[in-house]
Amino acid sequence: MSHWNMQAIGRIESCYKEKFAIPRQPGLTPSAEAILHLLPPYDTPDAVRELAQFSHVWLVFVFHATAGQGWRPTVRPPKLGGNQRVGVFATRSTFRPNPIGLSVARLERIETDNGVRLHLAGADLLDGTPILDIKPYLAYADALPYASNGYADDGGQPLPVRFSAEADAQLLALQARHPRLRSLIAEVLAQDPRPGYADDPTRRYGMALYDLNILWCCDAAGALVISILPA
Ligand code: SAM
Repeated sequence: MSHWNMQAIGRIESCYKEKFAIPRQPGLTPSAEAILHLLPPYDTPDAVRELAQFSHVWLVFVFHATAGQGWRPTVRPPKLGGNQRVGVFATRSTFRPNPIGLSVARLERIETDNGVRLHLAGADLLDGTPILDIKPYLAYADALPYASNGYADDGGQPLPVRFSAEADAQLLALQARHPRLRSLIAEVLAQDPRPGYADDPTRRYGMALYDLNILWCCDAAGALVISILPA
């Protein structure tokens, strides 16, 4: 048998409303918030009984935003400057024969009133991502600190991030609604989400976080957050 029918057991509500600026792996932006809403018939407290004992969970998900775009046997990873090809199975590319992703996230709490919701932090998932499975993260088996990362190193030096006076004032006004927003913006921009070819200090970028559009640019001193506007 080589075909299986699977269905989403849940759907992600994420601070990341578009693909641009989502980090390349989970854990790089610990302030990124997401809620995993379990779907019927899996939205029963029984299905998550004792899961709250674990600090982290693995999420198996569908790259739903790119799933229709097919795959190729070789991929040009951004890590290699976009010029060198490696096998698709030597990458974490979203364009795979089966568009399945794997991410670990911090499990902050579980709500079981009126459905089941897992509050997560640090995930690299787009809003609306369908979740196929949840598994507890087992540090004794899953953490392999001496594993070699091949060409995929940890990304090197983070980009310095600063905020304009206008952005600072806007963050203050948004503090009650989005207490982690400042850290989230700083963590996301520290990863330097600019496309590889872009090195223009006059160019302004927008990124959608929550219901906000974050305007920023990048010069020799690093990223500057210009303003934070409603999306
Ligand atoms: N940690 C996962 C893995 O290794 O399978 C994902 C790694 S993939 C390189 C990370 C990228 O996936 C993010 O930068 C984001 O743009 C993209 N992504 C996240 N959720 C997605 C979704 N639902 N559909 C398509 N792309 C998605």
